[in-house]
Amino acid sequence: MEFRLIERIRELTEQPRDDVRIGIGDDAAVLAVPAGQELVVAIDTLVAGVHFPHDTAAADIGWKALAVNLSDLAAMGASPAWALLAMTLPGADSAFVEAFADGFSQLAKPHRLALVGGDTTRGPLTISVAVHGFVPPGQAIRRDGARVGDAVLVTGTLGDAAAGLQALQYPSKDDGPRAGLRDFLIQRLNRPTPRLAAGAALRKQASACIDVSDGLLADLGHICAASGVGAEIEAVKLPRSSALLELHDDATALHFALHGGDDYELCFTVPASRLAGVQADLARLGCGVTRIGRIVEGEGVGVVGSDGTRLELDQRGWEHFA
Ligand code: ADP
Ligand code: MG
Repeated sequence: MEFRLIERIRELTEQPRDDVRIGIGDDAAVLAVPAGQELVVAIDTLVAGVHFPHDTAAADIGWKALAVNLSDLAAMGASPAWALLAMTLPGADSAFVEAFADGFSQLAKPHRLALVGGDTTRGPLTISVAVHGFVPPGQAIRRDGARVGDAVLVTGTLGDAAAGLQALQYPSKDDGPRAGLRDFLIQRLNRPTPRLAAGAALRKQASACIDVSDGLLADLGHICAASGVGAEIEAVKLPRSSALLELHDDATALHFALHGGDDYELCFTVPASRLAGVQADLARLGCGVTRIGRIVEGEGVGVVGSDGTRLELDQRGWEHFA
């Protein structure tokens, strides 16, 4: 039975690549790293009930398990190539595996990512994906390169996934236009878009980069800590979707944008001399980008309100804040 499941996963995720010398089916995969490239690797685990609600659709879990990993490659400026998939399943549920592999490959295919192996075991639903990608030597974008005076930018919009989670937790019988807005936010939670093209365009441009998985304040805080600097961001500049703004008042939308996790947008810093070029490059890729503040001396992330004064915020995020 397990063999048939693995065979189905192999079929559904089929992606021919010359650099995969041996893929699924042997004791281990054999992969050829292209000459003159560095290998960039990341792994992330999603546990049912912790990282996604128990009733999440299998296809969404498949997409998201890969997306969160590709987002880590995007934040490094790496181009994806291969993945490993470790599945712990409560039972040999072929319908689940089929839908999961379908969601996974919907994201893998456009990036020509090959699933080259994995592991399948029985237990509480848990999915680990490891991804492998490449960057030219020395060009991976790190967290520790932000310098005083750099601009701070983010791709896309912030707070949608957290609002999507809230929409799932407090279902509404609304079936007017608001239902469409809620669906958009839930989609942002379940089907995040890893910003791979943007990340690659930021190589040799951004001084530091991170993906927003734990919330803007927390993740920009990681850049600041690694770089030995502080950051000041302007609340009014935080990019928020019209769905978020229509369904929530200003204070709540701001809260989601600052503290909400799971958006998988990129937050990065750019020296002033390269700012216009970077904004033009990302616009050409069709990737929304917003300048939200600047790197300053000191430590931690400060948020300035519309009247120019610093907001008093609890940086520990959602639970504590609530
Ligand atoms: P072994 O006991 O030697 O580890 P497995 O039965 O775990 O063998 O795996 C057989 C083959 O199937 C290996 O190539 C492995 O990488 C692949 N594989 C197992 N589970 C998965 C999975 N969930 N997704 C992709 N490949 C898998
Ligand atoms: Mg094994």
